[in-house]
Amino acid sequence: MSVSPAAARTRRAVLVVCDSLRADLIRPDTTPTLARLAAEGCRYAAHRSVFPSTTRTASASIATGCLPRNHGLLGNAMALDEGRGLVRLSTGNADFRERLRAVTGRVLTRPTLSQRLAGAGAAGGAIVFSNASPGAAHVQDPDGYGFLYNRAGSHGPGLKALAPEEHLDTPKGIEGDARTTDRFVEEVLLERRPALSVLWLSEPDHSGHANPLGGAAHLRAVAAADACVARVLEAGERLGSGGRDVLTIVTSDHGQETTDRIIDVDGLLIEAGLKAAPDSSDVVPASQGTSALIFVAAEARHRLPAITSWLETQDWAEEIYADEALAEVGLDGGMSLALAVSLRKSRRTNEFGVPGYSDIVFEPGGLNNVGCGQHGGTGFYEQSPFLFISGGGFPTATVRETPSSCIDIAPTILRHLGLPMDGMDGRPLQDEQ
Ligand SMILES: [Zn+2]
Repeated sequence: MSVSPAAARTRRAVLVVCDSLRADLIRPDTTPTLARLAAEGCRYAAHRSVFPSTTRTASASIATGCLPRNHGLLGNAMALDEGRGLVRLSTGNADFRERLRAVTGRVLTRPTLSQRLAGAGAAGGAIVFSNASPGAAHVQDPDGYGFLYNRAGSHGPGLKALAPEEHLDTPKGIEGDARTTDRFVEEVLLERRPALSVLWLSEPDHSGHANPLGGAAHLRAVAAADACVARVLEAGERLGSGGRDVLTIVTSDHGQETTDRIIDVDGLLIEAGLKAAPDSSDVVPASQGTSALIFVAAEARHRLPAITSWLETQDWAEEIYADEALAEVGLDGGMSLALAVSLRKSRRTNEFGVPGYSDIVFEPGGLNNVGCGQHGGTGFYEQSPFLFISGGGFPTATVRETPSSCIDIAPTILRHLGLPMDGMDGRPLQDEQ
Protein backbone atom coordinates (compact mmCIF):
# COMPACT_ATOMS: atom_id res chain seq x y z
CA MET A 1 0.00 0.00 0.00
CA SER A 2 1.44 3.36 -0.96
CA VAL A 3 0.03 6.69 0.11
CA SER A 4 -0.02 9.69 -2.23
CA PRO A 5 1.43 12.93 -0.83
CA ALA A 6 -2.00 14.57 -1.07
CA ALA A 7 -3.65 11.76 0.88
CA ALA A 8 -0.85 11.76 3.45
CA ARG A 9 -1.49 15.44 4.20
CA THR A 10 -5.01 14.72 5.39
CA ARG A 11 -3.96 11.81 7.55
CA ARG A 12 -3.46 11.95 11.27
CA ALA A 13 -2.54 9.53 14.02
CA VAL A 14 -3.53 9.60 17.69
CA LEU A 15 -1.65 7.45 20.20
CA VAL A 16 -2.87 7.01 23.78
CA VAL A 17 -0.82 5.03 26.32
CA CYS A 18 -2.43 3.85 29.57
CA ASP A 19 0.74 3.16 31.53
CA SER A 20 0.93 -0.37 33.00
CA LEU A 21 -2.60 -1.47 32.14
CA ARG A 22 -2.62 -5.26 31.74
CA ALA A 23 -4.69 -6.73 28.93
CA ASP A 24 -6.48 -9.11 31.32
CA LEU A 25 -7.79 -6.22 33.44
CA ILE A 26 -9.78 -4.81 30.51
CA ARG A 27 -13.33 -5.95 31.18
CA PRO A 28 -16.78 -4.40 30.60
CA ASP A 29 -17.24 -3.82 34.34
CA THR A 30 -13.85 -2.17 35.00
CA THR A 31 -13.08 -0.46 31.69
CA PRO A 32 -16.26 -0.04 29.63
CA THR A 33 -14.69 2.19 26.97
CA LEU A 34 -11.63 0.03 26.43
CA ALA A 35 -13.76 -3.13 26.43
CA ARG A 36 -15.91 -1.61 23.69
CA LEU A 37 -12.83 -0.55 21.75
CA ALA A 38 -11.44 -4.09 22.07
CA ALA A 39 -14.67 -5.52 20.67
CA GLU A 40 -15.25 -2.98 17.91
CA GLY A 41 -11.68 -2.27 16.72
CA CYS A 42 -8.68 -4.43 15.84
CA ARG A 43 -7.30 -6.10 18.97
CA TYR A 44 -3.81 -7.59 19.08
CA ALA A 45 -4.19 -10.53 21.44
CA ALA A 46 -0.48 -11.41 21.61
CA HIS A 47 0.93 -7.93 22.21
CA ARG A 48 4.19 -7.70 24.18
CA SER A 49 6.45 -5.09 25.74
CA VAL A 50 10.25 -4.95 25.40
CA PHE A 51 12.89 -6.08 27.92
CA PRO A 52 13.35 -4.55 30.41
CA SER A 53 9.59 -3.95 30.56
CA THR A 54 10.01 -0.50 32.09
CA THR A 55 8.24 2.70 31.09
CA ARG A 56 11.37 4.49 29.89
CA THR A 57 12.68 1.67 27.68
CA ALA A 58 9.18 1.06 26.29
CA SER A 59 8.67 4.80 25.72
CA ALA A 60 11.89 4.96 23.70
CA SER A 61 10.89 1.80 21.82
CA ILE A 62 7.45 3.20 21.02
CA ALA A 63 9.04 6.47 19.85
CA THR A 64 11.76 4.87 17.70
CA GLY A 65 10.33 1.49 16.65
CA CYS A 66 13.56 -0.05 17.95
CA LEU A 67 14.69 -2.46 20.66
CA PRO A 68 16.64 -1.02 23.61
CA ARG A 69 19.98 -2.26 22.20
CA ASN A 70 19.38 -0.11 19.13
CA HIS A 71 17.85 3.03 20.66
CA GLY A 72 20.29 2.99 23.62
CA LEU A 73 17.99 3.73 26.57
CA LEU A 74 18.58 0.49 28.42
CA GLY A 75 16.35 0.74 31.49
CA ASN A 76 14.69 2.75 34.24
CA ALA A 77 18.17 2.96 35.76
CA MET A 78 21.56 2.80 34.05
CA ALA A 79 25.18 3.04 35.16
CA LEU A 80 27.08 5.93 33.61
CA ASP A 81 30.73 6.90 33.93
CA GLU A 82 30.80 10.67 34.16
CA GLY A 83 34.50 10.65 34.99
CA ARG A 84 34.37 9.09 38.46
CA GLY A 85 33.68 5.49 37.48
CA LEU A 86 30.30 3.80 36.99
CA VAL A 87 27.48 5.37 38.99
CA ARG A 88 23.88 4.14 39.03
CA LEU A 89 21.45 6.84 37.85
CA SER A 90 17.69 6.86 37.51
CA THR A 91 16.79 7.53 33.89
CA GLY A 92 13.54 9.09 35.11
CA ASN A 93 15.07 12.22 36.58
CA ALA A 94 14.74 15.52 34.76
CA ASP A 95 18.52 15.92 34.45
CA PHE A 96 19.25 12.45 33.05
CA ARG A 97 18.71 13.41 29.40
CA GLU A 98 21.56 15.92 29.40
CA ARG A 99 23.81 13.79 31.63
CA LEU A 100 23.50 10.90 29.15
CA ARG A 101 24.10 13.27 26.25
CA ALA A 102 27.23 14.62 27.97
CA VAL A 103 28.69 11.11 28.38
CA THR A 104 27.74 9.50 25.07
CA GLY A 105 27.16 12.50 22.81
CA ARG A 106 23.52 11.64 22.25
CA VAL A 107 20.35 10.58 24.08
CA LEU A 108 18.84 8.02 21.69
CA THR A 109 20.77 6.48 18.81
CA ARG A 110 17.76 6.22 16.49
CA PRO A 111 15.33 8.92 15.35
CA THR A 112 12.00 9.32 17.11
CA LEU A 113 8.61 9.79 15.50
CA SER A 114 8.87 13.49 16.40
CA GLN A 115 12.13 13.73 14.45
CA ARG A 116 10.83 11.80 11.48
CA LEU A 117 7.67 13.90 11.32
CA ALA A 118 9.57 17.18 11.67
CA GLY A 119 11.43 16.39 8.47
CA ALA A 120 8.27 15.38 6.65
CA GLY A 121 7.13 18.85 5.64
CA ALA A 122 3.49 18.72 4.68
CA ALA A 123 2.83 15.70 6.89
CA GLY A 124 3.09 18.04 9.88
CA GLY A 125 4.74 17.46 13.22
CA ALA A 126 4.17 15.70 16.52
CA ILE A 127 2.76 16.93 19.82
CA VAL A 128 3.35 14.76 22.91
CA PHE A 129 1.53 15.27 26.23
CA SER A 130 3.18 13.00 28.80
CA ASN A 131 2.12 12.72 32.42
CA ALA A 132 4.80 10.06 33.06
CA SER A 133 8.23 10.65 34.66
CA PRO A 134 10.43 13.32 33.04
CA GLY A 135 12.73 10.60 31.71
CA ALA A 136 9.92 8.63 30.09
CA ALA A 137 8.60 11.86 28.56
CA HIS A 138 11.99 13.08 27.33
CA VAL A 139 12.74 9.99 25.23
CA GLN A 140 9.63 10.72 23.16
CA ASP A 141 11.51 13.72 21.73
CA PRO A 142 14.93 14.15 23.38
CA ASP A 143 16.34 16.48 20.75
CA GLY A 144 13.34 18.79 20.42
CA TYR A 145 11.97 18.20 16.95
CA GLY A 146 8.34 18.65 17.93
CA PHE A 147 6.34 19.78 20.94
CA LEU A 148 6.65 17.91 24.24
CA TYR A 149 4.70 18.71 27.42
CA ASN A 150 5.67 17.37 30.85
CA ARG A 151 5.82 18.71 34.39
CA ALA A 152 9.64 18.86 34.22
CA GLY A 153 9.50 21.28 31.31
CA SER A 154 7.62 21.76 28.06
CA HIS A 155 9.42 22.53 24.81
CA GLY A 156 8.83 23.34 21.19
CA PRO A 157 11.13 22.75 18.22
CA GLY A 158 14.80 23.26 19.05
CA LEU A 159 14.16 22.29 22.69
CA LYS A 160 12.96 25.87 23.15
CA ALA A 161 11.16 26.17 26.48
CA LEU A 162 7.53 27.17 26.12
CA ALA A 163 6.15 30.22 27.89
CA PRO A 164 5.02 29.56 31.49
CA GLU A 165 1.34 29.90 30.54
CA GLU A 166 1.76 27.20 27.86
CA HIS A 167 3.65 24.76 30.11
CA LEU A 168 1.81 21.66 31.34
CA ASP A 169 2.40 21.12 35.05
CA THR A 170 0.27 18.22 36.23
CA PRO A 171 1.06 15.68 38.95
CA LYS A 172 1.11 11.94 38.39
CA GLY A 173 -2.16 10.24 39.30
CA ILE A 174 -5.84 10.32 38.48
CA GLU A 175 -6.36 14.06 38.81
CA GLY A 176 -3.24 15.00 36.84
CA ASP A 177 -4.16 12.56 34.07
CA ALA A 178 -7.65 14.08 33.84
CA ARG A 179 -6.25 17.61 33.53
CA THR A 180 -3.68 16.46 30.97
CA THR A 181 -6.40 14.75 28.95
CA ASP A 182 -8.73 17.76 29.08
CA ARG A 183 -6.10 20.03 27.64
CA PHE A 184 -4.91 17.41 25.13
CA VAL A 185 -8.42 16.98 23.77
CA GLU A 186 -9.30 20.67 23.50
CA GLU A 187 -5.95 22.04 22.42
CA VAL A 188 -4.29 19.25 20.47
CA LEU A 189 -7.02 17.04 19.03
CA LEU A 190 -9.63 19.69 18.30
CA GLU A 191 -7.56 22.81 17.61
CA ARG A 192 -3.93 22.23 16.58
CA ARG A 193 -4.52 18.90 14.85
CA PRO A 194 -0.90 17.81 14.23
CA ALA A 195 -0.05 14.75 12.17
CA LEU A 196 0.72 12.83 15.37
CA SER A 197 -0.84 13.46 18.78
CA VAL A 198 0.47 11.42 21.72
CA LEU A 199 -1.14 11.25 25.18
CA TRP A 200 0.74 9.26 27.86
CA LEU A 201 -1.27 8.72 31.06
CA SER A 202 0.41 7.96 34.39
CA GLU A 203 -2.37 5.60 35.46
CA PRO A 204 -2.89 2.85 36.37
CA ASP A 205 0.91 2.61 36.78
CA HIS A 206 1.14 5.27 39.48
CA SER A 207 -1.53 3.71 41.70
CA GLY A 208 -0.51 0.15 40.84
CA HIS A 209 2.97 0.66 42.33
CA ALA A 210 1.50 1.62 45.70
CA ASN A 211 -1.54 -0.67 45.96
CA PRO A 212 -2.52 -4.31 45.44
CA LEU A 213 -3.47 -5.10 41.84
CA GLY A 214 -7.22 -5.50 41.47
CA GLY A 215 -7.92 -3.77 44.80
CA ALA A 216 -10.18 -0.73 45.11
CA ALA A 217 -7.46 1.92 44.68
CA HIS A 218 -5.94 0.18 41.66
CA LEU A 219 -9.33 -0.36 40.01
CA ARG A 220 -10.18 3.33 40.55
CA ALA A 221 -7.03 4.22 38.62
CA VAL A 222 -7.86 1.69 35.90
CA ALA A 223 -11.34 3.22 35.57
CA ALA A 224 -9.85 6.73 35.47
CA ALA A 225 -7.56 5.78 32.59
CA ASP A 226 -10.59 4.32 30.81
CA ALA A 227 -12.44 7.61 31.30
CA CYS A 228 -9.50 9.52 29.76
CA VAL A 229 -9.62 7.23 26.71
CA ALA A 230 -13.38 7.89 26.48
CA ARG A 231 -12.69 11.65 26.31
CA VAL A 232 -10.22 11.13 23.45
CA LEU A 233 -12.66 8.97 21.50
CA GLU A 234 -15.46 11.50 22.01
CA ALA A 235 -13.21 14.15 20.48
CA GLY A 236 -12.83 11.92 17.43
CA GLU A 237 -16.61 11.75 17.16
CA ARG A 238 -16.89 15.54 17.52
CA LEU A 239 -14.52 15.91 14.58
CA GLY A 240 -17.04 14.00 12.48
CA SER A 241 -15.91 13.49 8.88
CA GLY A 242 -12.77 15.49 9.67
CA GLY A 243 -11.65 12.47 11.68
CA ARG A 244 -12.12 10.06 8.81
CA ASP A 245 -8.43 9.52 8.15
CA VAL A 246 -7.42 9.28 11.77
CA LEU A 247 -5.52 6.20 12.91
CA THR A 248 -6.24 5.71 16.61
CA ILE A 249 -3.92 3.48 18.64
CA VAL A 250 -4.73 2.86 22.30
CA THR A 251 -2.18 0.75 24.13
CA SER A 252 -0.13 0.18 27.26
CA ASP A 253 3.63 -0.02 27.52
CA HIS A 254 3.73 -3.11 29.79
CA GLY A 255 1.65 -4.72 32.54
CA GLN A 256 2.46 -5.36 36.19
CA GLU A 257 3.06 -8.34 38.46
CA THR A 258 2.43 -8.46 42.20
CA THR A 259 5.67 -8.00 44.14
CA ASP A 260 6.80 -11.02 46.13
CA ARG A 261 10.21 -11.02 47.83
CA ILE A 262 12.54 -8.02 47.85
CA ILE A 263 16.07 -8.99 46.87
CA ASP A 264 19.02 -6.81 47.90
CA VAL A 265 21.21 -7.61 44.92
CA ASP A 266 23.86 -5.04 45.94
CA GLY A 267 24.12 -6.53 49.43
CA LEU A 268 24.25 -10.12 48.20
CA LEU A 269 27.01 -9.31 45.70
CA ILE A 270 29.05 -7.63 48.45
CA GLU A 271 28.46 -10.57 50.79
CA ALA A 272 29.66 -12.94 48.05
CA GLY A 273 32.85 -10.91 47.59
CA LEU A 274 31.89 -9.89 44.06
CA LYS A 275 31.34 -6.18 44.69
CA ALA A 276 33.56 -3.95 46.83
CA ALA A 277 31.06 -1.71 48.63
CA PRO A 278 27.54 -0.23 48.33
CA ASP A 279 28.74 2.77 46.30
CA SER A 280 31.63 1.06 44.50
CA SER A 281 31.83 1.44 40.73
CA ASP A 282 33.29 -2.00 39.98
CA VAL A 283 30.02 -3.95 39.72
CA VAL A 284 26.82 -1.87 39.56
CA PRO A 285 23.42 -3.53 39.53
CA ALA A 286 20.60 -1.27 38.31
CA SER A 287 17.11 -2.22 39.47
CA GLN A 288 14.46 -2.49 36.79
CA GLY A 289 11.84 -3.56 39.32
CA THR A 290 11.36 -7.25 38.55
CA SER A 291 14.68 -7.46 36.72
CA ALA A 292 18.20 -6.11 37.07
CA LEU A 293 20.83 -4.90 34.65
CA ILE A 294 24.34 -5.51 35.94
CA PHE A 295 27.00 -3.09 34.72
CA VAL A 296 30.63 -4.13 35.19
CA ALA A 297 33.62 -1.79 34.87
CA ALA A 298 36.54 -2.81 32.64
CA GLU A 299 38.82 -3.44 35.64
CA ALA A 300 36.29 -5.89 37.12
CA ARG A 301 35.43 -7.78 33.93
CA HIS A 302 37.58 -10.70 35.06
CA ARG A 303 34.94 -11.31 37.75
CA LEU A 304 32.21 -11.98 35.19
CA PRO A 305 32.50 -15.80 35.18
CA ALA A 306 32.36 -15.80 38.99
CA ILE A 307 29.34 -13.45 39.02
CA THR A 308 27.53 -15.61 36.47
CA SER A 309 28.28 -18.83 38.40
CA TRP A 310 27.08 -17.18 41.61
CA LEU A 311 23.86 -15.95 39.97
CA GLU A 312 23.13 -19.50 38.86
CA THR A 313 23.03 -20.55 42.52
CA GLN A 314 20.53 -17.81 43.49
CA ASP A 315 16.87 -18.90 43.60
CA TRP A 316 15.64 -15.37 42.74
CA ALA A 317 17.69 -15.23 39.52
CA GLU A 318 15.26 -17.03 37.23
CA GLU A 319 16.62 -15.98 33.83
CA ILE A 320 20.20 -14.83 33.30
CA TYR A 321 21.23 -13.18 30.04
CA ALA A 322 24.83 -12.65 28.91
CA ASP A 323 26.66 -12.27 25.60
CA GLU A 324 24.50 -13.46 22.67
CA ALA A 325 21.52 -14.04 24.97
CA LEU A 326 21.61 -10.34 25.86
CA ALA A 327 21.31 -9.43 22.20
CA GLU A 328 18.50 -11.94 21.68
CA VAL A 329 16.50 -10.35 24.49
CA GLY A 330 16.95 -6.88 22.98
CA LEU A 331 20.00 -5.58 24.87
CA ASP A 332 23.69 -5.55 24.17
CA GLY A 333 26.96 -5.34 26.00
CA GLY A 334 27.71 -1.71 25.17
CA MET A 335 27.96 0.94 27.88
CA SER A 336 29.44 -1.57 30.36
CA LEU A 337 26.27 -3.66 30.52
CA ALA A 338 27.40 -7.22 31.21
CA LEU A 339 24.38 -9.16 32.44
CA ALA A 340 20.61 -8.95 32.75
CA VAL A 341 18.57 -10.98 35.21
CA SER A 342 14.80 -11.45 35.28
CA LEU A 343 13.65 -12.42 38.76
CA ARG A 344 11.62 -15.41 39.97
CA LYS A 345 7.97 -15.42 38.97
CA SER A 346 4.84 -17.38 39.78
CA ARG A 347 1.35 -17.53 38.26
CA ARG A 348 -0.46 -17.66 41.61
CA THR A 349 -3.25 -15.13 42.26
CA ASN A 350 -3.38 -12.35 44.83
CA GLU A 351 -6.23 -11.61 47.28
CA PHE A 352 -8.20 -9.91 44.50
CA GLY A 353 -7.90 -12.80 42.07
CA VAL A 354 -5.23 -11.12 39.92
CA PRO A 355 -2.59 -13.66 38.82
CA GLY A 356 1.18 -13.19 38.59
CA TYR A 357 3.88 -12.60 41.20
CA SER A 358 7.52 -11.68 40.84
CA ASP A 359 10.45 -11.03 43.15
CA ILE A 360 11.85 -7.51 42.83
CA VAL A 361 15.27 -5.91 43.22
CA PHE A 362 15.67 -3.72 46.30
CA GLU A 363 16.12 -0.14 45.17
CA PRO A 364 17.71 2.32 47.62
CA GLY A 365 15.25 5.18 48.00
CA GLY A 366 12.68 3.34 45.86
CA LEU A 367 9.19 2.10 46.71
CA ASN A 368 10.16 -1.51 47.54
CA ASN A 369 6.53 -2.39 48.26
CA VAL A 370 5.51 -5.98 48.91
CA GLY A 371 2.10 -7.06 47.54
CA CYS A 372 1.82 -4.14 45.10
CA GLY A 373 2.35 -3.80 41.35
CA GLN A 374 5.78 -3.81 39.69
CA HIS A 375 7.30 -4.62 36.30
CA GLY A 376 10.56 -4.67 34.37
CA GLY A 377 11.10 -8.35 33.64
CA THR A 378 9.87 -11.13 31.40
CA GLY A 379 6.87 -12.28 33.46
CA PHE A 380 3.74 -13.20 31.52
CA TYR A 381 1.56 -10.40 32.89
CA GLU A 382 4.11 -7.60 32.84
CA GLN A 383 4.69 -8.70 29.25
CA SER A 384 0.96 -8.56 28.45
CA PRO A 385 0.08 -4.96 27.64
CA PHE A 386 -2.88 -4.36 25.31
CA LEU A 387 -3.03 -2.91 21.80
CA PHE A 388 -6.23 -1.75 20.09
CA ILE A 389 -6.17 -0.04 16.70
CA SER A 390 -9.04 1.64 14.90
CA GLY A 391 -9.31 3.71 11.72
CA GLY A 392 -6.53 3.90 9.15
CA GLY A 393 -7.95 0.98 7.19
CA PHE A 394 -7.71 -1.46 10.08
CA PRO A 395 -10.56 -3.95 10.22
CA THR A 396 -13.32 -3.58 12.79
CA ALA A 397 -14.30 -6.25 15.33
CA THR A 398 -11.16 -8.26 14.62
CA VAL A 399 -8.77 -10.15 16.88
CA ARG A 400 -5.25 -10.68 15.57
CA GLU A 401 -3.28 -13.51 17.17
CA THR A 402 -0.01 -12.70 15.40
CA PRO A 403 2.62 -11.46 17.87
CA SER A 404 3.05 -7.70 18.06
CA SER A 405 5.28 -5.50 20.19
CA CYS A 406 5.88 -1.93 21.33
CA ILE A 407 8.35 -1.60 18.47
CA ASP A 408 5.61 -2.10 15.85
CA ILE A 409 3.70 1.05 16.82
CA ALA A 410 6.05 3.62 15.22
CA PRO A 411 6.23 1.89 11.82
CA THR A 412 2.44 1.45 11.87
CA ILE A 413 2.01 5.20 12.41
CA LEU A 414 4.58 6.09 9.73
CA ARG A 415 2.92 3.74 7.25
CA HIS A 416 -0.41 5.46 7.87
CA LEU A 417 1.16 8.89 7.37
CA GLY A 418 2.92 7.80 4.18
CA LEU A 419 6.43 8.24 5.59
CA PRO A 420 9.52 5.98 5.35
CA MET A 421 10.05 3.32 8.02
CA ASP A 422 13.77 2.72 7.51
CA GLY A 423 16.05 1.69 10.36
CA MET A 424 13.39 0.21 12.62
CA ASP A 425 13.28 -3.18 14.34
CA GLY A 426 9.47 -3.24 14.27
CA ARG A 427 7.19 -3.60 11.26
CA PRO A 428 3.90 -1.94 10.29
CA LEU A 429 0.93 -3.95 11.48
CA GLN A 430 -1.21 -3.12 8.44
CA ASP A 431 0.56 -5.87 6.54
CA GLU A 432 -0.41 -8.56 9.06
CA GLN A 433 -3.35 -10.84 8.46
ZN1 LIG B 1 5.03 2.16 32.17
